[in-house]
Amino acid sequence: MPIITTKVLNYNENLKGIVKINNKEIALDGVIKDEVIELDASKDLNNITLKKIKEPSKKRVTPPCPIYNKCGGCTLLHMDYKEQLKIKTELVENLFFNEFKRFYKVNDTLGMVNPSHYRNKNQIVFQNVKGGKCRLASGFYQENSHKIVDFTTCYIQDETSDKIVQTIKELMLKMHYNAYDEDHKNGLIRHVLIKRSDTTKETMVVIVTSSEVFPGCQNFVKALVARHKDITTIIQNVNSRSTSAVLGDKEKILFGKGYINDILLDKKFKISSKSFYQVNSKQCAVLYTKALEMANLSKNDTLLDAYCGVGTIGLIASSKVGKVIGVELEASAVDDAILNAKVNNVKNIHFFKADASIFLKNLTNKKEKIDVIVMDPPRKGSDLKFLNSVLKLKPKKIIYISCDPRTQVVDLKTLTTDGYTIEQIQPVDMFPHTQHVENIVLLERK
Ligand code: SAH
Repeated sequence: MPIITTKVLNYNENLKGIVKINNKEIALDGVIKDEVIELDASKDLNNITLKKIKEPSKKRVTPPCPIYNKCGGCTLLHMDYKEQLKIKTELVENLFFNEFKRFYKVNDTLGMVNPSHYRNKNQIVFQNVKGGKCRLASGFYQENSHKIVDFTTCYIQDETSDKIVQTIKELMLKMHYNAYDEDHKNGLIRHVLIKRSDTTKETMVVIVTSSEVFPGCQNFVKALVARHKDITTIIQNVNSRSTSAVLGDKEKILFGKGYINDILLDKKFKISSKSFYQVNSKQCAVLYTKALEMANLSKNDTLLDAYCGVGTIGLIASSKVGKVIGVELEASAVDDAILNAKVNNVKNIHFFKADASIFLKNLTNKKEKIDVIVMDPPRKGSDLKFLNSVLKLKPKKIIYISCDPRTQVVDLKTLTTDGYTIEQIQPVDMFPHTQHVENIVLLERK
């Protein structure tokens, strides 16, 4: 059975297309539901590859990116954007159906007007190239590999930041800086991380080096700043470990103040190299506005912002409530949150550096009155200790924001065991062209 002709039946949880061969489901990238496709099964049935799209869908578009086939990041770039939004809504609907065995209405996914170059954070790895035209490659690691996809522009990353990377590459070649070589553990420059604010245009460049010694760095910095007036700060981060983590612990400010500012929904936020900040600022505004609209806060409420990062949600909500409590595990994020409160002159907010589950357990012991909880945990979701404490605190409303609805529905199963009902489900497209879906759920206590 070397060549198989078949139809794409549906999508799986990662929005890959599903086909059925010999009653076995196979997930494929780059296909659209109802397309008739040809598969190559000449090697064996466990190694089936897509050969040809025989009958393309009307929803198919030419991916507007030269590295679409190599990179593996934007797995939906071959699909019309409206269709992407539709299948994300359906995905959330299916996840709820599978978990709760009943149908929940899911609002249409809120998409972007212009879904390109939306990422405010670029992370680039450098690699020495032997025998090529250029002896340096800069790009992303290919999925599940240590091979680099070398590129000059990326369809979803900030364009100014992409240009800065190209200048860094030129300067590295001119000034004879080698890229770090993982196998031989030599070479200086490992990565560059660029964060840029869409509103203030302030731009941070973090050069990740393998050792503290960065010869001629002042000349490098001077040349880089001369070419890009938007760069407001440059940081050297030292990562000498053999690890897949990009940043090391040690940092040295080479230029500027060591952080950038962003304006989000009329509040000013400090962004440092390490603390979490939503990567799509435009959609972040949509996400927070929608979440707070769903919370329908009132002046006497005490709001708990759990997993609060640099305090964005709590600070934006602060003028609508009596008091805000923010809790976050990462010390640098809590420091930034406290500073953000000061800068914005917000006095009714208190941040705590703690594990959210332990912190909530303590709140239940103190019988603290919490009216509304906004929770925004990392991808893996929350835990039973946290969820049980939420049930004990008995807030009127819970707003659960999640970047992975697959773990969110599991947590919601626990939250709906004791008087809470799911009132609204609202996906927001924070990551256009990728498989990722952000989802807000409103729970109310009846
Ligand atoms: N609400 C913020 C951050 C969301 S990301 C925003 O929108 O920007 C999730 C955050 O949870 C991260 O800042 C991470 O550091 C934090 N976190 C992870 N595990 C935690 C835990 N056990 N307790 C408290 N915070 C945690």
